[in-house]
This record gives sequence, C-alpha cells and structure tokens, in this order.
Amino acid sequence: MEKTAIAIGGGPAGLATALMLAKSGWNNITVLEKRPSADFYEPDKSFLYLIDGRGQKCTDFLGLSDRLAELGVANTDVNFTVIQADGSQNTSKMPVPGSRDRKTAYWLPRSTFMQLLYQEIEQNWRHCITVLFDTVCLEIDRAIADSDGSEKLKVIAKNNNEGDDQNLTFETDLLLGCDGITSIVRKTLSKWDDSAGSKRFEMRHFPSPSSGLKYKVLTLPPQPPLNRDGSERAIPSTAYAIRGAFRDRDRAVSLGLLPRKNPDEPRTANIITYPDRDIWKLQDGKQVFDFLETAFPQLPIDKILSSEEVARFAESQGGQFPDPQYCPGLFFLLSENDKNTAGVVLMGDAIHCFPPDIGQGVNAALEDVCVLHQAISEAENDLSRALPLYESLRANDTAALAKLAQIGFPWQYNQNQFRKNLWRVNVILRVLLNRLLPQIFDPPAILMISNYNLSYDEIWRKAQKTTAILYLLISGLAIASWVSIWRF
Ligand SMILES: Cc1cc2nc3c(=O)[nH]c(=O)nc-3n(C[C@H](O)[C@H](O)[C@H](O)COP(=O)(O)OP(=O)(O)OC[C@H]3O[C@@H](n4cnc5c(N)ncnc54)[C@H](O)[C@@H]3O)c2cc1C
Repeated sequence: MEKTAIAIGGGPAGLATALMLAKSGWNNITVLEKRPSADFYEPDKSFLYLIDGRGQKCTDFLGLSDRLAELGVANTDVNFTVIQADGSQNTSKMPVPGSRDRKTAYWLPRSTFMQLLYQEIEQNWRHCITVLFDTVCLEIDRAIADSDGSEKLKVIAKNNNEGDDQNLTFETDLLLGCDGITSIVRKTLSKWDDSAGSKRFEMRHFPSPSSGLKYKVLTLPPQPPLNRDGSERAIPSTAYAIRGAFRDRDRAVSLGLLPRKNPDEPRTANIITYPDRDIWKLQDGKQVFDFLETAFPQLPIDKILSSEEVARFAESQGGQFPDPQYCPGLFFLLSENDKNTAGVVLMGDAIHCFPPDIGQGVNAALEDVCVLHQAISEAENDLSRALPLYESLRANDTAALAKLAQIGFPWQYNQNQFRKNLWRVNVILRVLLNRLLPQIFDPPAILMISNYNLSYDEIWRKAQKTTAILYLLISGLAIASWVSIWRF
C-alpha cells in the first residue's frame, strides 16, 4: 500500500484509526498530537471511560480486548456507595443493563486506555506508524505534488520544542480529522466547502439539560480515607457519590468517584454543577479548603487534599459540558471520481460530541473506526469510493447520537430533583411496558444504548416509535375521559 495517511489528533480516534489502517496494509501513517505523551495527565481531563461492547468491536479487531479486561474494572463487579453528610452509607450493586445482548464493559482512566493503544503501536507497528507528540497542526492546504502533478493535501505543523520558524510540512493522500470538538480539520473543510453554501461541515447543535454544566476534577491520593477518623479507605473498584451538607441551591455540591483497577493510582473526584454556583467563585486554595471542609463534614478533608491540590483547583478554569452536536459531512475529496484522489475524513468528537451522560464518547469514536475500516475494505482502498461509503454508513448514526444524548440521562447531575423524578417515571414506565408488550414497546433509550447489536439510528427510531405510541395512548385516554365526563 503506497498511500500515505496523516491523523490530526492522537486521542482514542486518532491512535485507533492509525492501528486500523496499519492492520489493513497501510504502511506510511503519521499521527500529530499536540500533547506531550499518550498518557499525559491533565487533572481536569482525567475522566474515566466505560468501554462497552460497541467500543470492543474495535479493540477486538485490534487484538486488545484481553488487555483491556486486565487493565479495566468490569462493570459487573462495581459496587456503588452513597455517603451522606452525616456519614451514613448505603452500598448497592452498580446497575448494569443486563441481557444476552450485552458484553461486560470495562472502566479505565483515559490515560490508561491511551497508553494501551500507544504501546500496541510501539510494540508492533513502529515500522508503519509514527506518532509525533508535542506537535500541533497549524494549517491544512491543497497543493500540487512535485512528484506526479496530482493535487495533494498539505499539513503544516509545529513541534512545541522547536523554534517558531521551524514549521514541519507533510503531504498526504488521506487526512484523518481526529482532533476533537474544536477540530481544525473540520473548520478547514467548512471554509473549503463554503462556495457550495451547504454548511456540510458546520456542527448542528441541540439543547440538553446537562449542556453548559461546569466541571472540575479533584485529584485525591490512592485509596483516600472516606470517614472522619480516617479508618475507612475507598475501595478502588467501588464508585462513590459523596453528598454535601449544604442544601441551598448556591452551595449544594456532591463528589463523584468512579472505579479504577490500579489501587496505587490517585483517585479522582468530579464536581459538576451550574456555572453560577458558589464553588466556582472561590478565589484561592484556602477558600476552597474551607468550603469543602464545611460542605463535607463526613470526610477528613485535611488528609485527602493537599494545599497544592486545593490551590490548583481554585486556579483551574475547569470545563463545561458541550451541547449535543453533530456534523452532517464526514468526508471531502479533492477530486470526485478519481481513483487516486486525496481525501479527508472526520471521526470521533470532530463529528459527534455531547455531555458525558450516556458514556458513549469513546465508544462512538471506536465504532467510527470500525465503520471506516468496513468502507475502506469494501472499496479496496479506493478513497473516491471508500469515503462516500463511510459517510453513507455512518451519517445517520452520527445525527442519532446527538439526539440520544438529549434524552439518554441528562438529569443525572442533580440539577433539578423534580425533573429527575419525571425522567425516572418515564424510564420505569417504558421498562414495564416493554416487559408486558415487547412487540409494541421498546425499552428506554438509555438501556438500549449499551446493546451494541443495535445502531444508534435504530435505537433512536425505536425510542421515537415508543414515544409516538405513548402520546397516542395518552391522547386517546384524555379524549375518552373528556367524552365520558361530557356525556354524564
Ligand atoms: C468531562 C468529560 C467527561 C467525559 N466522560 C466520558 C465518559 O465517561 N465516557 C466516554 O466515553 N466519553 C467521555 N467523554 C468524551 C470523550 O472524552 C470523547 O468522546 C473521546 O475522547 C473522543 O475521542 P477523540 O479521539 O475523538 O477526541 P479527543 O479525545 O478529544 O482527542 C483529540 C486529540 O486531538 C488533539 N488535537 C486537537 N487539536 C489538535 C491539533 N491542532 N494538532 C494536534 N493535535 C490536536 C488533542 O490534544 C486530543 O488528544 C468525556 C468528555 C468530557 C469533557
């Protein structure tokens, strides 16, 4: 295979696509990643992935599923402990959508998963994949190649350790836009496509109750003590929800700890709430420390948070959950109907992005890789056929994902207890109706999402069908009651 490929972004989509292409016979693949290393630790991006059957289609293909199972915590083994402000606790099994259609899913930190992919490249594919860390893509152009006069894609990048005048230039046949939500690749395509006025490469946004929530992550020591006298330590494979003592809307906070395998790794605690709340107004480490000490009287805050960590927390900008969004255009060819044309393809968060409520960010990115593999194999590496095929196979799922993110589980961050309860009633109603009349009613979307045999588009259609039937039933009941009241 003589074609070259360059991936912009070495996140899950970028590294997994590089491996997929190498396994498919491509031998000149470069990944440009602006971070300094695969497992680079960024406190506010230290979230955990739950890689389910959908993501495992990709790790199966790459031969990495056994290692994934070794490094991760199986979702079937996770307990969930709620610790109230008065120190009382309640532990239950973490609910797993159980059925024959599901595979065991694994929790693992993003950095551990990134390292798993990178190690595979280093150990088995160094001869065809080059990963350049600390290298940021600055610009993408179209250029005539000196070698054969054909139009190629030109990437201009900069290594952060080199001087300003030391830009790197690459030419490529296939450019992979795996550079996340702020994708420079997608923005470039949007400019190139502007003349057609189609807005194919502009994100379509959808509102969600969890969009705009602000988050920051506290780094705790491994197995932190979780009671006042420090005698009870957090169990690595247990998830915790630690409720704060404040009940008023401005100060109410909770800490969320997700499970991890390695008992020697630091534990992370998420704080997620509206951007105007008091916790985000704290100016320095001392204010953060005092706030957390009062908010969590059940915890020995002085034993689990160093002065450096509270100071870092105060200074950090944190992040905000994005709107659910998707991009309708997934590819761009420099020349149509030319077997040797160069082309651009978009994947992962560059084409679908949403708050983490449905836990599908990484799974959807890994499924994109499998779909691209299918398209490239069916088209026998002819990009003029493979890239349109990828779009036709994946575009509906990409749109469905954004809509599923709106209804999946958007009230889980305790934004509004009443709306959360309404959401629960809706879920329970659909579960019961599905048990009673499975031919007519489908389970709620959040339970269908982990069924990797269903595409996102199928799940969205099934959820919509049940909604339509429920509306019909409710309207029918309302009309019948109104008629009977009117007659008597
Ligand atoms: C707070 C939070 C919690 C989340 N929790 C979950 C979760 O529980 N489960 C889940 O599945 N997903 C979760 N996600 C989403 C998940 O992180 C993404 O969906 C997933 O990482 C997508 O992978 P990706 O490779 O497409 O993009 P990314 O992971 O964003 O990777 C893109 C990469 O491109 C690099 N890059 C960007 N621009 C350039 C450039 N110009 N030059 C070079 N490199 C560049 C970036 O440094 C980055 O490494 C969460 C996201 C957030 C913000």
